[in-house]
Amino acid sequence: MADSDHEYSNHSDEDDAGALGGGGRSLASRPKERAQARWEETVNRNWELQEGADGSIEGVLGGLEEASKRKRLLKDTTPLQRGIIRHTLLVLDQSDAMNEKDLRPTRHLLTINYAIMFVREFFEQNPISQLGILGMREGLAKRLSDMSGNPNDHITALKAARATEPKGNPSLQNALDMARAALHHTPSHGTREVVIVLGALLTSDPGDIHDTIKACIRDKIRVRIIGLAAQMHICAEICRKTNAGDETAYNVAVDEVDYKQQLMSITTPPVLRATDTEAQKQNQAALLMMGFPSRIAEERPTLCACHGNLTRGGYLCSRCKAKVCNLPATCPTCDLTLILSTHLARSYHHLFPLKNWVEVPWSRAQKKGSVQCFGCLSAFPAVPGEYQMANRSENGPANARTKRAEGASESSRYECETCGEHFCIDCDVFSHEVVHNCPGCQSRAHPDVAEMPNGG
Ligand SMILES: [Zn+2]
Ligand SMILES: [Zn+2]
Ligand SMILES: [Zn+2]
Ligand SMILES: [Zn+2]
Repeated sequence: MADSDHEYSNHSDEDDAGALGGGGRSLASRPKERAQARWEETVNRNWELQEGADGSIEGVLGGLEEASKRKRLLKDTTPLQRGIIRHTLLVLDQSDAMNEKDLRPTRHLLTINYAIMFVREFFEQNPISQLGILGMREGLAKRLSDMSGNPNDHITALKAARATEPKGNPSLQNALDMARAALHHTPSHGTREVVIVLGALLTSDPGDIHDTIKACIRDKIRVRIIGLAAQMHICAEICRKTNAGDETAYNVAVDEVDYKQQLMSITTPPVLRATDTEAQKQNQAALLMMGFPSRIAEERPTLCACHGNLTRGGYLCSRCKAKVCNLPATCPTCDLTLILSTHLARSYHHLFPLKNWVEVPWSRAQKKGSVQCFGCLSAFPAVPGEYQMANRSENGPANARTKRAEGASESSRYECETCGEHFCIDCDVFSHEVVHNCPGCQSRAHPDVAEMPNGG
């Protein structure tokens, strides 16, 4: 996967001018001493596995698993203003390069599967947002599904795209132009985002892509790219320029797991930039009109306003009484955003995220005397004998034995700093990724003890 980039690095290290002839524009402007990319580091680190001091690797392996689970969890939990009304276009590469089998079964099929997961998760996390899907194929950008707030439209389109054989070259410029056109009419109170999955190491464009990048910046479109092969200069440039200099918007997936994580991380609403909020104030778009219709039951089927199908039951628009079959939706008659209040509640945790829990050293576990997880009651490993003595030496054998992978807690306990309860790694993951609440804080009877906001 990384082969082509190694050649690039070698060339540019030796002689930049010489490399110009063979490699083209992309490596000429590559910085000579650039920091090692994240995906390059991972490739080098793969085989490092240190056994514990007593020769066993059991503890280390367990620790590694915990550490990797936790690494996924640890996010920045500072409450930030996030754009929870998003307008996002997902652009999938459907060019020749997607026939490669380095991701199983093929890049193309894996991408379709992940895209379906992405659509589900996107609407789970961003219920009042809009999504559209484009494909890049034979030098053209093709619309797979229109901008809509209904996940089923996109999933049907993706399932149909599974049968299309990848062919030709991708064109980033055509894709960005089409995305720009689709996002042009979206209201200013939401974000405009383009997410590109690119398997190829080239883009075949009809004109100057730099003009398109400038147009994207003007339209306040943020582009994020996930590469499947190796890093490309033009992608880095597109992402950096459209994200106000932020370099993290472009990543190359190392393997299937990494690819999935990167795609799924995009479902978290982006942080609003100061310039966005200023523009919002000028537009006076701080208030957004929404309808909260209730479900109706009907004895005879009637036509729905959204598809023109005969359906029984549905939701009546709170303003014009048109019937729609699913929520969230935009009323086809009067353009009112129709959602359920539970949809809004689901977006809430992005604005007030649950704080990360901290690792618990043996000394702290001893002090608290926790023997089982507060969430699921599974037993914790017992505090080792050395720690039960009042005066323990810092460099004692216990210290060496309990050394585990970076990021994993030596006592397998994780503490919520608000309520002080201890949890296992699985409850940690579940609380932060699924329920977004702390079981300890929620079960406190006295409201003055609980500092957490209600519900969520
Ligand atoms: Zn309908
Ligand atoms: Zn209406
Ligand atoms: Zn647990
Ligand atoms: Zn808590």
